[in-house]
Amino acid sequence: MMKLLKYFKIYDNELCPCDSGKPYINCCKNRKDKTIKASKKPLEIQVMEQFRKSQFKCCLYPDKSNCVKHIKEAHALQNNKIISQLAEEGHVYILNTKKSPIVIPIENEEPEIIIPMDRVGIKHATTATCFCDIHDDEAFALIEKGAPDFDPNNKGHKFIYAYKSFIFEYYKKLVEQKVFIDNVKQYPSLLKIKEFVRYYRAISMTLQEMDNIKDFFDKRILNKDYTGLETCILEIPESINFANYACLALDFDINGNKIKYTHKGFISRLFVTVFPEKTKSYVIMSCLKEDYSVYKKLFYQLQNINLNKIKYYLDLVLPLYSENIVISPRLWEKWDDEQQMIYTFLANRQRSQFLTYKTMFALGMRNLKKQESNFEDGNRGRIDLFQKV
Ligand SMILES: [Zn+2]
Ligand SMILES: [Zn+2]
Repeated sequence: MMKLLKYFKIYDNELCPCDSGKPYINCCKNRKDKTIKASKKPLEIQVMEQFRKSQFKCCLYPDKSNCVKHIKEAHALQNNKIISQLAEEGHVYILNTKKSPIVIPIENEEPEIIIPMDRVGIKHATTATCFCDIHDDEAFALIEKGAPDFDPNNKGHKFIYAYKSFIFEYYKKLVEQKVFIDNVKQYPSLLKIKEFVRYYRAISMTLQEMDNIKDFFDKRILNKDYTGLETCILEIPESINFANYACLALDFDINGNKIKYTHKGFISRLFVTVFPEKTKSYVIMSCLKEDYSVYKKLFYQLQNINLNKIKYYLDLVLPLYSENIVISPRLWEKWDDEQQMIYTFLANRQRSQFLTYKTMFALGMRNLKKQESNFEDGNRGRIDLFQKV
């Protein structure tokens, strides 16, 4: 009972969520809101807007003794190798969280909030201010410009891709936490709202989990020790027209079976990168060695099920689970309005709707369990990221 209650209220004696270091009762519990909220925009939109403004500069490299002052816009997906390969006239399409979302009012319901797909210059695609000039070069040198193409047998390559997908998602969580704290400082009364407490618990838990993973990576990055991960690589024999990075937990595998990724309340995550090279493409999925039992089956399927069916599966899960997909104008502009709309809609599903769709997709994959053929080009559904252009 007490355990459950924790999701709805902040206790007097726990550390105040505003990060003051004081107990809640001596801090925000009795503090008044700075101003009365004047904005009529839904809270969700306000948070999204603050998210844009709250991007702060830092260097997440584990050893900060050599940091230089200048923090660059570091690319989660390498500009020279991946983004520029996707670009046409220096532009690609991404879900642009740095722009104001579109709000569509719906009668008697919560408004629909849509982050639109946006044509952006390659200098701004998948960037974040989370490494200083020196350490962006140092941490990712193995897979950066001068480096050879991805080598599936190179432990260092696989490790750095996993690290990169993790650390950029980690930075986003830090920004989210900052937005939360800034809000609490302004409006301590938010801590008396159930929904808000729940959000606080969720983000604290996620960051605690991710901090553990960060420790794992930090030690190894410093020592250039590329052990401790299990990696599954899928090679696609053509150059695809999108790329993606993500740190996520998938709920179902290619046969629609549930993946039990929660262990003692902690979530086992996958580090995923998908990208094209000149004549082929790769899907790299890694997890911590200790989580291998969770994803073993999925990894097996990725190596053994026919490629067209795997593509069908990725077409369903990637837009739904990840907000970091970069699409080449060659592909995006080939899609008609309806396809572009379906994609944008799926990529924007949150909370209960996200749940509905993933349950539906899992069921779909389960129904196709025995079907091995008929997943070729043109049969893969309305949204096909692997479509040839
Ligand atoms: Zn406080
Ligand atoms: Zn640095």
